[in-house]
Amino acid sequence: MDHVSPVDPFVEARLRMVAEQLRDRGIRDERVLQAMATVPRHEFVPPEAWGKAYEDHPLPIGEGQTISQPYIVAFMIEALGAEAGDTVLEIGTGTGYEAAVLSRIAARVLTVERVASLAMRARENFARLGYGNIVASVGDGSEGLPQSAPFKRIIVAAAAAAIPGSLLQQLDDNGKLVLPVGSADLQELQLLHKVGGQFTRTNLGGCRFVPLIGP
Ligand code: SAH
Repeated sequence: MDHVSPVDPFVEARLRMVAEQLRDRGIRDERVLQAMATVPRHEFVPPEAWGKAYEDHPLPIGEGQTISQPYIVAFMIEALGAEAGDTVLEIGTGTGYEAAVLSRIAARVLTVERVASLAMRARENFARLGYGNIVASVGDGSEGLPQSAPFKRIIVAAAAAAIPGSLLQQLDDNGKLVLPVGSADLQELQLLHKVGGQFTRTNLGGCRFVPLIGP
């Protein structure tokens, strides 16, 4: 079964989040809705923010970084369209919430975070909550993870000024990459689909993420 403590006081708040912020706003993928109904988002934010963990906005997680708004996490994962057997590469672990959601949908999640203290906290979260199919590493995710490439699915939780070439290279044929692209205050969420060595690009709308910090 899923890793929710039997005394989880936030079950109701979480189900309300799924109903009102996700389903009512057009998220349709039942795998995403189910995953977000089970992953305890409060466990990924500092205790003083638990009361706000299921509200409709991003939250600070330390080191100047944020955990994304639940709707954005759902929207991106739905667009990614990961399947049960996939290995997903995630760039920008933060405290690991999005990786945890992905781990309920895909077979395995490899996630990369450049801030070592955040990666360590994410690893503790995965261990404590029993998410055994996530491997978290520290490094510059704009270089991808060449030793484990290619990937059918890549998702990026920080905005790059331009799409990193290594991520495009590490995408498998028929692979999908979802990422925010743009400057600090003007970003577009993009979906790239690779078919026969060619990329098609879909603009999924405006968004606002912390910057992807390169080398
Ligand atoms: N997915 C996270 C959200 C993290 S916010 C969650 O669900 O909580 C984006 C994260 O990207 C930050 O933690 C930031 O440190 C990280 N980041 C920024 N540039 C990066 C890079 N080049 N490689 C890896 N991580 C990066």
